[in-house]
Amino acid sequence: MSIPTSFIDQLLDQTDIVDVVGRRIPLNKKGANFWCQCPFHDDSNPSMAVNQDKQFFYCFVCQESGNAIHFIRRYENLEFVDAIETLASAAGMSVPYENNRLEKSKPSGLVEKAVKFYQGNLNEKIAPKAVEYLKDRKITGATAKKFNIGYAQDKWDGLLNHFGSDIPSKELDESGLFSRKDDRFYDRFRGRVIFPIRNIKGDFIAMGGRIIDEGEPKYLNSPETSFFNKSNELFGLYEVKEREKNIASLIVVEGYMDVIGLYEHGIKNAVATLGTAVTPNHVSKIMRYTNKIFFAFDGDLAGGKAAWKAVENTFPIIREDINIHFVFFDQGHDPDSYINEHGLKAFQKLLDESISLSSYFLSKVKEFNLETLEGRAQAAAFAIPLVNKINNSVIKEVYASEVSKLCGMDIKTMDVPSSPEIRKAASDNAIRSSSNIPVRVKAVINIFSALLAFPAIAHESVFDELKDDPKFNFLFVILDLYRDMPNIKPSRVIESLESEQIKGYFSEAVVAGLELSEKNAFKLVNDCMDILLKNKKDREQTLKDKYNVRSITPAERRDLQQIILKKQEITDDDRNWLKKLSSKQD
Ligand SMILES: [Zn+2]
Repeated sequence: MSIPTSFIDQLLDQTDIVDVVGRRIPLNKKGANFWCQCPFHDDSNPSMAVNQDKQFFYCFVCQESGNAIHFIRRYENLEFVDAIETLASAAGMSVPYENNRLEKSKPSGLVEKAVKFYQGNLNEKIAPKAVEYLKDRKITGATAKKFNIGYAQDKWDGLLNHFGSDIPSKELDESGLFSRKDDRFYDRFRGRVIFPIRNIKGDFIAMGGRIIDEGEPKYLNSPETSFFNKSNELFGLYEVKEREKNIASLIVVEGYMDVIGLYEHGIKNAVATLGTAVTPNHVSKIMRYTNKIFFAFDGDLAGGKAAWKAVENTFPIIREDINIHFVFFDQGHDPDSYINEHGLKAFQKLLDESISLSSYFLSKVKEFNLETLEGRAQAAAFAIPLVNKINNSVIKEVYASEVSKLCGMDIKTMDVPSSPEIRKAASDNAIRSSSNIPVRVKAVINIFSALLAFPAIAHESVFDELKDDPKFNFLFVILDLYRDMPNIKPSRVIESLESEQIKGYFSEAVVAGLELSEKNAFKLVNDCMDILLKNKKDREQTLKDKYNVRSITPAERRDLQQIILKKQEITDDDRNWLKKLSSKQD
């Protein structure tokens, strides 16, 4: 089922974002925007602008932005369809659902059928060993039922025969349930206990299987399909959300058995990644449902690495209102084995004693020998790139100042933009203190401003020189939209963008609402393009310098070749470079 886009347009037309936000948070009009305290971070100033003209909101601190649908989804923690329902009922409209069998992300019904089939296999008669395995792990029948645990018999065609011959090969292929050799399909899962994976709506989208007898691999997951992307999904999240409307906290663990083992002992808020490290997508998904997160990885080397990866992937999206903690186990223990051995109280004590993200990070900095100058320099070199990953200016400031204290040097002067004025700037109804923004980013934001003021600029040929550069694909996505629909609403442009960062830049341009004359808008675009193209030239020179000192990587070498080949005119010098770059020896 899906909702026609024409209805969504109509709904947005009949909804006033000032009304939607204003009914939930007090708004004050100041200049072109309404202002309020941002509900998406711990805000003490009015940092969020709501623009009635553009039907759009933007927070200057945490950079959350979007249209009324996005606001309501984030504010009330709703799925897209529920957000539409909420707004539609406020506008007195009813949502016309349509059956759309071609919808790409619609999960295959075959996965659900397979789950039922495998569940039916899980009994003493068909699967004595699987039942014994679960009993050994102290999993009761009720818990097995709750997680729809099943068993795939050790046969090549158990599921295939169950499905019969009516199902088109394409559908079998796309379900992820079968492997294929030549033109024949085989059951992917054989001789395994099956742990079904659901998306946040509760649809079965994939499964994991743990082998019962000897064999490799021990754990096997469904491959990625059009409806299952493992770096987005979390095992157990649906089950937590089903039970708790407002989720107080979530515990992120490594395996489905950890989730299930903890559940059995009364810890019912664990979720697991699916054979991958924690990705930024995972973290932002978790942050949508709770603001208290525990990472509880295995007490071994891999678990330690996983915890550190979580730090790296959390930094770019961390906000002040999010509490992140780490739980560490003794060598050889994982959450499931720990709670089995020590019980619920001991596990809860571990949660109480868990260490915060900042303490964990700073403990790593303290591992360097801070008594010596060399050690402090190494510590700074380790910490600066990580601190630079933090986008939230307030948190970045705090981390930078802590690292500076430990290393005995002001790391803020070392490429960590300091931003004491940020909060003031936000409350002053001003755009981010412009000296903190790299000139290239400013150029991109200015191009957006010019486009917003004069969409016809999208037809200018001046942009063509960036066309071959994949880094600027986003620009052409936006230009195409304005070429096709000069009156497109900014909120629709934002929805078409993939990168959160670019969404942020575009949002800044929208809320800044730069007043430009047509002449100045064209001039601005030309100036900004000069800046972006100069940057490309700088890149060419940097790569040539690297070549000369023999530190160029193969990828950079190809990059340099491409830069030269794409020039409109190739000089003798360029030809020499091409010759050098294509010869095997340096
Ligand atoms: Zn905010």
